[in-house]
Amino acid sequence: MESSLTPEQVGKKQQIEGLAMVVAVLVGGLVAVLAWMYFSRELPWLRYFGTGALALAGFFVAHVATAAVLGARARCPDCSAMFSVSQTGHEETFLSATPRRRESEVGRSLSGPNEGKRLIRKESWTEERYQVDVTRSCSACGASRTTRSNRTVKTNRVSDDIYRR
Ligand SMILES: [Zn+2]
Repeated sequence: MESSLTPEQVGKKQQIEGLAMVVAVLVGGLVAVLAWMYFSRELPWLRYFGTGALALAGFFVAHVATAAVLGARARCPDCSAMFSVSQTGHEETFLSATPRRRESEVGRSLSGPNEGKRLIRKESWTEERYQVDVTRSCSACGASRTTRSNRTVKTNRVSDDIYRR
């Protein structure tokens, strides 16, 4: 099995295993912290043992799950070669820029010269929309697929607070 992989596929496999290891270490660490707090009222040996066991379980589950998900994603839907599909292109096209504004009441002044007045927040921004094309290609059969999605960003944000009756 291993010997039939091309250098590209071996590289992809190592990349996936590396990422799965990083995720597993992070999850294991998080589980360890949570378990350590959860077992805070237990006897010391039980606290050490429980924390170690749960952290180890979290590590293995996260490793297997991440490797499985990434492995499935890297499998070519056309020729079903393993570890062959990688992102080969990422293109963003500007679609539109729309000015937006909003007014909202954020509070009320309780004292001072503006006592009793409402505090109004006036916000304005530009909503920019982009079309995102991500291309993923197979290193074994050369097939490529492009998925299209939209991305929205808020720019030129301006916020101003005023008092009003
Ligand atoms: Zn393929």
